[in-house]
Amino acid sequence: MPSFGCSEIISAVPRLAVSALLTWSIFVADIVALNYYRSFALCFLVTFLYLYCMATYNLTWIRGPGFVYNVPGFYIGREPLPTDVPPISDAVTAKHDGRMRFCSKCKCWKPDRAHHCSSCKACVLRMDHHCPWYAICIGFRNHKNFIQFLVVVTLYGGLCALLSGYAVYALAMDPTNKHVFPLSWMFLAIIGGIFGVSVGFFAAYTVYNLLNNQTTIEALESVRYRSQVSSNPEFYRFAELPTSRTVGNLFDIGYKNNWRETMGTRLCDWFVPWDTCRGNGTSFPVDTSLLQVLKQRSAADQQRVNLMHEQWQHQRNLVKADRQSIMSAAAEQDPFIHNVPEANPSIM
Ligand SMILES: [Zn+2]
Ligand SMILES: [Zn+2]
Repeated sequence: MPSFGCSEIISAVPRLAVSALLTWSIFVADIVALNYYRSFALCFLVTFLYLYCMATYNLTWIRGPGFVYNVPGFYIGREPLPTDVPPISDAVTAKHDGRMRFCSKCKCWKPDRAHHCSSCKACVLRMDHHCPWYAICIGFRNHKNFIQFLVVVTLYGGLCALLSGYAVYALAMDPTNKHVFPLSWMFLAIIGGIFGVSVGFFAAYTVYNLLNNQTTIEALESVRYRSQVSSNPEFYRFAELPTSRTVGNLFDIGYKNNWRETMGTRLCDWFVPWDTCRGNGTSFPVDTSLLQVLKQRSAADQQRVNLMHEQWQHQRNLVKADRQSIMSAAAEQDPFIHNVPEANPSIM
């Protein structure tokens, strides 16, 4: 679980820095809009975008991504025993041995799409990534506010850059102008341009991932899906577990549903930064046709494993019978041999 104190003070630094930068930018942008363009409409527009950016930015870290230890039943506070029953049975991701994923640092079960964040020192629900600009993870609960901020701050940065950049250019090119334009206008054009472009690329990548219903982690790493082959864990290793790279993204339920799952089902949900999370972030809708393919594949794996187990048993019985027949023949030739030692199963 995360510790509080010094880390909270360190976390406040980027949050204050971003809020201060945005607040400085709106002062300059409003001055440009009123003094150069003499437009209340432009002033209102940039102020509205600024307020929206501030609201979504601060809601993102205030709301947080959602942590696994807050979900009842997942935190057990120790290593799991073989007799422990995981809190959910419908998880579709698994460890390499097919069992439900477990975080030995947090001592809690890991639901689908949850990952441990070493910066937050906790397992995060549907973790996207840890963002240093927020000093917190982006995950299940704050993903929507994060996307709203990225999109709107791109518009805001671009608009600030255009307004102040054109004003600076026009003043510099005007031979009748005898006043030096404020340097803050030029800084706003440069900073707004840099943020507008760089955050714009990142916003496009994030929306692309959202439409494909994959987190940044899932886009970079393959997801291992659970197989139904669990009757004999000793032989589980023979079954090749399917992954998102080999069979596709199980959480992709069509780009419309993918969008609605995070951004909300109604049009107003997409713009208003209220909470529209569905469920508790431990299970997610899946592509039922792909799940069916996985189940068929698991059934085939199970048959293959059962066959291998039978062959192994058959070989073991053959070796045992051979050994007994050899010892019996030896006993017939040498009457002093009466005790036939049992075969050692560990060497078969
Ligand atoms: Zn953890
Ligand atoms: Zn984190």
